[in-house]
Amino acid sequence: MVSPNAPTVHSLVSTKPGRKYQASCHCQLVRYTVTLSPGLDDLDSWVVECNCSICSRNGYLNVYVQNECIEFEGMGLESELVEKYRFGKQRVQHYFCSRCGCSLMAESIEPGFYDGVKALNVRMFEGIDFNTLQRREVDGRAL
Ligand SMILES: [Zn+2]
Repeated sequence: MVSPNAPTVHSLVSTKPGRKYQASCHCQLVRYTVTLSPGLDDLDSWVVECNCSICSRNGYLNVYVQNECIEFEGMGLESELVEKYRFGKQRVQHYFCSRCGCSLMAESIEPGFYDGVKALNVRMFEGIDFNTLQRREVDGRAL
């Protein structure tokens, strides 16, 4: 079932032209490129502002992408230098840089719940004017 607030999941199979974004944590230990179709400047594009206990603390602005949209440069999330964090129902794992503390992304670790999808924190993207992004609020606290 898709709720009216269900986020768009970006994939490489899209009728909209894609845009590549470079992203990194503050200390550049974690770096990746992501392709979003449509790009963030498209009128149909928006980022998710979630009110759950961790997103609100960290100021997450999320986009949801299929794993295939992400290319890590050098080390990936499996590195020991990337910290993993779960809480509550343990359905979602959050990743943050062990050196600079930036909140990078999150993904479901529960089979059948958003398989193969990551929630990327757009605040890690380079060259973005955050004030121009269209935002939608999601009631993650209720999940
Ligand atoms: Zn870092």
